[in-house]
Amino acid sequence: MRNKTPQQPAKERVKNFFEVALGFSQEQAEEEARRCLQCKDPVCIKGCPVEVDIPAFIKLIKEGKQKEAQALIKEKNNLPGICGRVCPQEDQCEAVCILNKKKIPVNIGALERYAADYGLVHSQEFIVHSKKLRTTNYELRTTIAVVGSGPAGLTCAADLAKMGYEVTLFESLHLPGGVLMYGIPEFRLPKKIVQNEVDYIKSLGVDIKTDTLIGNTYSLEDLCKEGFKAIFIGTGAGLPQFLGIPGENLGRVYSANEFLTRVNLMKAYKFPDYATPINIGKKIAVIGGGNVAFDCARVALRLGTQAVLVYRRTENEMPARKEEIRNATDEGIPFKVLTQPVRIIDDGKGFVGGLECIAMELGEPDASGRRRPAPLKDSNFVLGVDTVIVAIGQNPNPLLPKVTPHLKTNKDGTIWVDKNFMSSIPGVFAGGDIISGADTVISAMGAGKKAAVAIDRYIKNLVTSFG
Ligand SMILES: Cc1cc2nc3c(=O)[nH]c(=O)nc-3n(C[C@H](O)[C@H](O)[C@H](O)COP(=O)(O)OP(=O)(O)OC[C@H]3O[C@@H](n4cnc5c(N)ncnc54)[C@H](O)[C@@H]3O)c2cc1C
Ligand code: SF4
Repeated sequence: MRNKTPQQPAKERVKNFFEVALGFSQEQAEEEARRCLQCKDPVCIKGCPVEVDIPAFIKLIKEGKQKEAQALIKEKNNLPGICGRVCPQEDQCEAVCILNKKKIPVNIGALERYAADYGLVHSQEFIVHSKKLRTTNYELRTTIAVVGSGPAGLTCAADLAKMGYEVTLFESLHLPGGVLMYGIPEFRLPKKIVQNEVDYIKSLGVDIKTDTLIGNTYSLEDLCKEGFKAIFIGTGAGLPQFLGIPGENLGRVYSANEFLTRVNLMKAYKFPDYATPINIGKKIAVIGGGNVAFDCARVALRLGTQAVLVYRRTENEMPARKEEIRNATDEGIPFKVLTQPVRIIDDGKGFVGGLECIAMELGEPDASGRRRPAPLKDSNFVLGVDTVIVAIGQNPNPLLPKVTPHLKTNKDGTIWVDKNFMSSIPGVFAGGDIISGADTVISAMGAGKKAAVAIDRYIKNLVTSFG
């Protein structure tokens, strides 16, 4: 039998922001590790976008070597505590695990998290270890700038530092981590885990400069003049999409980004101990069916409100992880499916007084392969809510392309890159959500890794041509 990840009971956890998934004990981890068949052709590795040697680290856990297991994972994955918690393993390594033929794959995510959490109590050891990983490639001290400290930027910066480059990472917010820090809630990804992994990356020698908005504080051209030999852009997809319906400018209408940033990054849930409040009512409609919508609804619940999730298709088409849908269901969040908002009603004082919706039915599949929702005639009704959170998607951050001449973009606003992750400006690379549109942590990390290799190749060519 697969060992399940223990959880805080639903009744308890809805009253706090502590982590829902509790992680394996040593006994559970070793028992789960014994389930791995140590396959000769370990297909799980191919299922991992950063190609962690999964059977090898599982074997180390089985032998009680948690520290060695973590060091092995970190050869490929700089953020294992984060990935062990938020990666969709069910679609990646666990989906292809040989034991999944019987629907009981090894719980690779929980084992990765178990190995990663070793660093939490032994972080000093790892800082010494990571200093040993640093090498110097050239007599020339080559400096690289990384813009944006989400998983793409952190990974690219860490890999370049391990290769011996001097890396400066610029972040516009006051804390590094991107969505990991400001978006994903504390109860799914504690901020001390993010901070711990950021500290590991700093210990590799990466210099992180926060409160610095590239494109405003400095342009890309300024960075080149400062002597940076290459630049990696990992600015993500943080521009919220709205519904374009009447009433979206009313008070207590939030984008998911603003709502989550206030609560996670600015700690509104600890107001007045922290200075940033959040003005919400008692009944909240969260519009959307992805991970972001679920995060908003579960945060709203923990802030003591009644939250309802409004989605225009059915539960089967929801893009959120199955685990998150199950968690939200256990916590008692109702889903209003086949429902499309058409207007946010003014309460007469400039705030939300209700949400007018129309019922939907599913028609033929659209380009995404999911059945297209169509409105049912004369089916309008009003949901009695006083706060609305719009969580229907994010677009690429537009600032850098807007202020940088010759930085080519695609129609959807993502930055154009060639197969080596180089943009239309030589020496300027990009990766993560800014090139793919909103995606996953591990795909952003995969892009950061590949871009680091491409940057190294680019710099070596420069050294050869000029040196
Ligand atoms: C609420 C939420 C929940 C999610 N849950 C999951 C999940 O469970 N599992 C999963 O795999 N994925 C999840 N995702 C998606 C995942 O977090 C993203 O795909 C991933 O973070 C993208 O990484 P990135 O490095 O490209 O960008 P980001 O994480 O967006 O980081 C970009 C960083 O760049 C900074 N920046 C932007 N412009 C500038 C500038 N001009 N100068 C300096 N800095 C700048 C931003 O402040 C930000 O810190 C979630 C996303 C959200 C919003
Ligand atoms: S495929 Fe599954 S059983 Fe085989 S090595 Fe990978 S984790 Fe172990």
